[in-house]
Amino acid sequence: MTAQPKLRIGLGEDSHRLVLARPLILGGVRIPYDYGLAGHSDADVVLHAIADALLGAAGLGDIGELFPDKDPAYKDVDSTSLLQDVLQRVQDAGWRPVNVDLVIHAQRPHLSEYKPKIQERVADLLGIPPTAVGVKAKTGEGVGAVGRGEVIRCHAVVLLEAAE
Ligand code: MG
Repeated sequence: MTAQPKLRIGLGEDSHRLVLARPLILGGVRIPYDYGLAGHSDADVVLHAIADALLGAAGLGDIGELFPDKDPAYKDVDSTSLLQDVLQRVQDAGWRPVNVDLVIHAQRPHLSEYKPKIQERVADLLGIPPTAVGVKAKTGEGVGAVGRGEVIRCHAVVLLEAAE
C-alpha cells in the first residue's frame, strides 16, 4: 500500500446571471453596481467556486449536493456561512487549505479596485495569509455571455495539505 499523499488539489467553477435590483457580492465583498447576481442564495460566484474547489480536493462532493437550491433554508443565505460549513467539513476530514487562486470573469463592473478587498476577505474566511490568495479579474472581451454582461463567472483552484 502506497503512502497517502499529503497534498490535494481541487477545481471549482460557478456562474450566475446578472439581474437588476440584487446586491452584487463577490468573495464576501459587497460591490456597488446597479446589477447583482440571481440565485437561490446570495449568488456569490467566488465563494461558491472556492467551496467546490475545497470539496473537490477533499473528495467530499459539491455544494449542490450539500446545499440544494430547492431547500428554503438556503434562500438568500450569506455564502460566507456556506463556505464556513464547507471549511469545517474539510478540516474534519483532516485537511487544511494552503492557497487559493481565483479568476473572476466579469465584463462589468471593473473589479480592479476591489481585488485587494476580495483577497483579504477570502484569506480571512479560509484562515490563510492574503499572500496565499490570488485574485485575477478578466473581462469577456465583449464576447459570449460574460462579454455581453449577462453573467459573472469564477474559476478557483485550491491546494490542501494534510493537517498534522
Ligand atoms: Mg452558485
